[in-house]
Amino acid sequence: MSAKVWLVGAGPGDPELLTLKAVRALQAAHVVLIDDLVNPAVLEHCASARVITVGKRGGCRSTPQEFIHRLMLRYARQGKCVVRLKGGDPCIFGRGGEEATWLRERGVEVELVNGITSGLAGATQCDIPLTLRGVSRGVTLVTAHTQDDSSLNWRALAEGGTTLVVYMGVAKLDEIREQLLNGGMAADMPVAMIENASLPQQRECRSSLAAMHEAATAFALKSPAILVIGQVAGAAQMASIAAAASA
Ligand code: SAH
Repeated sequence: MSAKVWLVGAGPGDPELLTLKAVRALQAAHVVLIDDLVNPAVLEHCASARVITVGKRGGCRSTPQEFIHRLMLRYARQGKCVVRLKGGDPCIFGRGGEEATWLRERGVEVELVNGITSGLAGATQCDIPLTLRGVSRGVTLVTAHTQDDSSLNWRALAEGGTTLVVYMGVAKLDEIREQLLNGGMAADMPVAMIENASLPQQRECRSSLAAMHEAATAFALKSPAILVIGQVAGAAQMASIAAAASA
C-alpha cells in the first residue's frame, strides 16, 4: 500500500464549518495528529483513530516540527491512513506547504484538504464583508509574527488600499499601529479585533488604528485573535454605504 498523508484544515473552530472532505478523511483515519487550535469536537467524526496532540500552546514547549514530520512518515509507511489536522486552512500560516514538500520528498503521497481560514471566518462572523464594491477591492492576509528577522513592507500595505487581515498580531499591536501610521494609513482607519472567531466564546472589539492598542488592553484581548483593518470594519462607514445604496 502506498504511503499517504492527508493535510486537513479543521476550520476556525465551529465544528459545522468543517468541509465534507475533512469529515470523510477523519472517518477513514487510523491516526490523527492534531494541532492545539483545532476544536477537539471535530474528532467525533473519527471512527477508531489514534489521536496524537502535537500542540504548541498552553505553556508547553512546542512539539519540534522535525518530530511531527517523522511521526507522519512512520505511520504512513506502516500503511496507516494519516490525517494531519490543522486549525483553519492548512496552507494559511499553517506549515502545510512545508509538510507537504517534506513528505513528498520522501515518496509519501500527500492530499491537501482546504479549511476555512480564521481570518475569513472571523470577519464574516462579525458581519464584515472583506471586499465590498466601492469600498474595498481586495484583501491581504499577513502574519505579524516571523521566525526570522524579516519584516513586512507595511508602507506598501498601508498604501495598497486593500482590507488587511492580520494573524498572530495580539502581541504586536503597538508595532503594527506604528508601522501602518508611518506608512501613511489614516489614524481613524477602522479596526476590528476578533477573538476565538466562530466559537461560542467569540468576542469582538472595534476601534480605530490610532486607538487599537489601548482598546485591546481595556478589552483584555487574547490570542487567538485576528485583526481586520480597513474601511469595511467601520460600523459607521457601513451604515452610510448602506444608506447611499438604498437611496
Ligand atoms: N492555519 C490557521 C492559522 C494558524 S496561525 C488558519 O488558517 O486560520 C495562528 C493564528 O491564527 C492565531 O494567532 C490567530 O491569529 C489566528 N486564529 C486561529 N484560529 C482563530 C480563531 N478561532 N479566532 C481568531 N483567530 C484565530
